[in-house]
Amino acid sequence: MKFILTKELGRLAKWLRILGFDTAYYNQDKLSSLIIQALRDERIILTRNQRLPQARGLKIVLIKNEKIKKQVEEALKTLKIVLEPEMMFSRCILCNTKLAVIAKDKVKDKVPEYVFKTQEDFITCPKCQRIYWQGTHWGNVRKTLEEIKWNS
Ligand SMILES: [Zn+2]
Repeated sequence: MKFILTKELGRLAKWLRILGFDTAYYNQDKLSSLIIQALRDERIILTRNQRLPQARGLKIVLIKNEKIKKQVEEALKTLKIVLEPEMMFSRCILCNTKLAVIAKDKVKDKVPEYVFKTQEDFITCPKCQRIYWQGTHWGNVRKTLEEIKWNS
């Protein structure tokens, strides 16, 4: 399942990437290119824009909630998504690229010193070069995920 989100859903786009979904973010106003991209890449459109034109073969999910946790819940429920833990943290939050493992000695000058001292495993985005590790950031993400009511 692949998605494309319209510009008012930037935070939801990041969350879908954290959960491992191929999620494009469309931050322009021109809706015609959005529809072309959705059809070409077979992406489901997630939007809060009620005036999005329907087109043959297009799947649009209208997100009603305003709060981010509720939006994640709503998206998963509407799309009947079952989360797979091994998919989580597999994509770059910023650019949607699949992450790759990087050796610890290669990140020495790229992460804060305390992170380098305390962490062993690092992954990186081959496209934007951002480096990720399982520190407090991921801990916070997991905590938020636990607060989301997946099955209610
Ligand atoms: Zn990236």
